[in-house]
Amino acid sequence: MILFKTTGPLQKHLKKLADQGFTIGFVPTMGALHSGHLSLINECREQCDITVCSIFVNPTQFNDKKDFEKYPVTIENDIYLLETNKTDILFLPAVEEIYTGGLNELQHFNLGYLENILEGKYRPGHFQGVCNVVYRLLNIVKPNIIFLGRKDYQQCLVLKTMMQEFYPSVKIALVDIAREQSGLAMSSRNMRLTEKALANAATIYQSLSFIKQNIFEKDIDTLKSDAREKLLQHGFAAIDYVEICDADTLLPVNLFDKNKNFIALVAASIEDVRLIDNVVL
Ligand code: AMP
Repeated sequence: MILFKTTGPLQKHLKKLADQGFTIGFVPTMGALHSGHLSLINECREQCDITVCSIFVNPTQFNDKKDFEKYPVTIENDIYLLETNKTDILFLPAVEEIYTGGLNELQHFNLGYLENILEGKYRPGHFQGVCNVVYRLLNIVKPNIIFLGRKDYQQCLVLKTMMQEFYPSVKIALVDIAREQSGLAMSSRNMRLTEKALANAATIYQSLSFIKQNIFEKDIDTLKSDAREKLLQHGFAAIDYVEICDADTLLPVNLFDKNKNFIALVAASIEDVRLIDNVVL
């Protein structure tokens, strides 16, 4: 694996590879890597000649300064995992490398209602930050395919919107959610939980599975309030949302319609750690 910390040499190297006809796959991450990230790396390796991973804890997507400061950093282990999973290139830029005009010179993206619902409602500015970093990273890496995890389902739709406008020729590959044996969605944030909270955190998946198993038995409001109740009983203090939405638009639904795809989504905090997850119904 070759590690690049600056943009110029990375671009030069990637141009050489692209000129030789190699396809470039890109996996953007914020590090503290786990098997979920590695499933993206492995999918990228299957589909592309060259696998590029970036690790960059993007300051502009954290609406909560404390969350940014507490974000886990495990760079030596990350490098080990990427090497053992045969990543070709790691891009590890400093903030100045990405935000060359400073952190106040952000681009504004037109994301429509997607920006203000669900995650957007509870994390104002979050998706503008996500789009700013991915827009800049795509401009540097110029991949053929970007690999994104379905764990951040709304992020996938937001980036699709941004890329339709600015990078229509880059393909998006979505990768399924990797879970612990308990069902808990893998997340870098899980590292911040005590053993007890880790066990309780699996309730998110259990409540999503409960919704899925009962879609023909109960009405939507009851499903959502039952799921909330389960979370509250298992140590979740703050529940931002338990929502059932049209999977294509993410707009909330009141009735199931057999001709559409639906998704249940949760965002809730345990021990002050905010976790998200979703299950397609
Ligand atoms: P992050 O480092 O959290 O920004 O995540 C980087 C990429 O990995 C994003 O596309 C995430 O959706 C994806 N990802 C994170 N956790 C998982 C998981 N448990 N399963 C699949 N993809 C994931």
